[in-house]
Amino acid sequence: MSNCVFCAIVDGSAPARIVYSDDDVVAFLDIRPIRPGHTLVIPREHHARLDTLPPELGGKMFAAAQRIGTAMQQAPVGSGRTIADGVNLALNDGRAAFQTVFHSHIHVVPRLRGDRISLAKGLVLRRDPDPDATADRLRAALEEVAGER
Ligand code: 5GP
Ligand code: ZN
Repeated sequence: MSNCVFCAIVDGSAPARIVYSDDDVVAFLDIRPIRPGHTLVIPREHHARLDTLPPELGGKMFAAAQRIGTAMQQAPVGSGRTIADGVNLALNDGRAAFQTVFHSHIHVVPRLRGDRISLAKGLVLRRDPDPDATADRLRAALEEVAGER
């Protein structure tokens, strides 16, 4: 869809640190991460909201988010080479639910035990000092998980 920044990432006309892609979905680092490694999983097909998203495609998004969340908890992704202790998966649907980009997406946010203070800081700063290194670590973590299958 024209004017959609996520469609532009899918067709390669806008830059993104892509960490995973297949025939149906693309996953890339959020440009304003709540925590380093914060990733967005989107369908290649444009669907502004959940109401038009085919459930099978939603399932493929979830499968990719699950894989990324698993990788984050098996190999170092965060700064300081930390392995996540948990992840938050979130989907904001509609302006009232804080959706700001109207191309449906799942957030995958790595979490550390007791990270409340740094999470609060992350919510304000929303900045990773070295996103290229984070993307490299996440790609490597995903390869490791794929290798175990
Ligand atoms: P929402 O609030 O719609 O659930 O989340 C949209 C997310 O997209 C935000 O976390 C925001 O930082 C991210 N975002 C917005 N524009 C871009 C962009 O051009 N590139 C990337 N990588 N992320 C974006
Ligand atoms: Zn789009």
